[in-house]
Amino acid sequence: MKKELKKRTSNRRYPIRTCKKPDCNEGFIPTDARQVYCSEQHRIDFNNDRRKLKESIDISFLKIVKKNRTVLHKIAASDFYKKNKFAHKSLLEYEDYDFKKYHQIIINQRTQNEVHICYDYGLELIDPINQNFSINNTLDYDL
Ligand SMILES: [Zn+2]
Repeated sequence: MKKELKKRTSNRRYPIRTCKKPDCNEGFIPTDARQVYCSEQHRIDFNNDRRKLKESIDISFLKIVKKNRTVLHKIAASDFYKKNKFAHKSLLEYEDYDFKKYHQIIINQRTQNEVHICYDYGLELIDPINQNFSINNTLDYDL
């Protein structure tokens, strides 16, 4: 005996909801418990907006890390640095270095210090009392 497959349609009525797309205040009656957008277009728009936001966050992060890399490169190439092999925190701050942005942290196996990596440069706090840092090109490290 063959059982007839009936498409399950719910006669259930859901209470009115507000569309999840932030700038849409449209109230709608869902046809499905999972429906959170007033329309298919707003579902697409919401996901596009979220992707664009994520991309702009990625871009601004990379911009800052790139700027950090430029600062490290500039200081490392300075006569003072070449002579003394350290840079004071105030100099990095003066150059607008953002200490919270880097690609990753590695441990210098020789000193056991953290090294903050921005592209091919690493910044290491070598003297915490005097707030002095060393800058190295990471080609010297095993990444
Ligand atoms: Zn909507």
